[in-house]
Amino acid sequence: MGKEEKKVYDVVIIGGGPAGLTAGLYTSRARLHTLLIQNGLFGGQMTTTELIENYPGFPQGVTGDELSRLMEEQAKRFGIETVNEEVTGVGLEGDLKQIRTYESSYFSQALIICTGTEYRKLGVPGEDQFVGKGVSYCATCDGAFFKDSEIFVVGGGDSALTEAIFLTKFVKGLTIVHRRDALRATKIYQERAFSNPKIRFLWNSVIQEIKGDQVVRSVLVRNVKTGEVQEFPTEGIFLFVGLIPRTRFLKGLIQMDEEGYIITDEKCETSLPGIFAAGDCRRKLLRQVATAVGEGATAAFAAEKYLEGKGRT
Ligand code: NAP
Repeated sequence: MGKEEKKVYDVVIIGGGPAGLTAGLYTSRARLHTLLIQNGLFGGQMTTTELIENYPGFPQGVTGDELSRLMEEQAKRFGIETVNEEVTGVGLEGDLKQIRTYESSYFSQALIICTGTEYRKLGVPGEDQFVGKGVSYCATCDGAFFKDSEIFVVGGGDSALTEAIFLTKFVKGLTIVHRRDALRATKIYQERAFSNPKIRFLWNSVIQEIKGDQVVRSVLVRNVKTGEVQEFPTEGIFLFVGLIPRTRFLKGLIQMDEEGYIITDEKCETSLPGIFAAGDCRRKLLRQVATAVGEGATAAFAAEKYLEGKGRT
């Protein structure tokens, strides 16, 4: 691409979850020429969340779909451009940031990374083989396939418990398998899970193998204290064993911690000037919609100040 054809945005935002949509709302409203690159549906992980109860302004809660739709509509109100592509890499060309996708290359003065996280795999035999055939990472996507079934849920965090509670709408019963004897999840979710008659717990236990033929038929569960292995018949297993940041495409460019979360300062600026990060892909204490939107706003404001410092008014 010749220099004369190069289209340079003030700001490119990668990721259209709550952090990216908020950053886009702020930069486009500040009249910065902004491109938001999203891969898939706007809303990110909100789109696979049944009900969001802890985002202020919605006292009865709001569905993930509805909040995604509202945030997308608001972000688009001020003229943001969007493309639906997957980013494969980011580089520097002088002062400009070059953002490569499978289809194209985009250039910007400032870049805001809001790529979020994806589900961590358990890494046991049978997991990959039975994805979509009984193994799932998304209760809102797949829960209805398990009507009146007996299923397993793995993990002891907020995801495992909220998704398990949601799954009780469909299933006959479910067993939460957790590797310790204490849950990591927020107390209110623990209370709801413990008082739900459809939910049982297998403590100090891990999944050793997922077995089946065309579909999942059983799981082997190992007690980590006694070493005993038991086989349980089941039609489904939902895995919620944590998240990993979607930052592989940035390796070597900016500073990250050992897990791949992006390290930023209080302005949400990364180790490279003019590159900011917001939302779940940042190293931080709390990963929620409420914190993502705050960081999206901060990163957008900081990007605006960065551009002003470079002489753009
Ligand atoms: P998480 O908090 O990291 O919990 C992961 C769970 O999986 C932990 O209980 C962990 O056990 C277990 N685990 C990890 N690796 C395992 C392995 N190899 N084998 C067996 N078990 C394993 O992840 P999350 O629940 O997905 O939550 C991620 C973030 O999103 C959190 O910040 C959470 O608060 C947030 N979130 C919030 C909400 C909400 O507020 N409504 C809903 C969902 C998620 P240990 O406990 O022993 O480490």
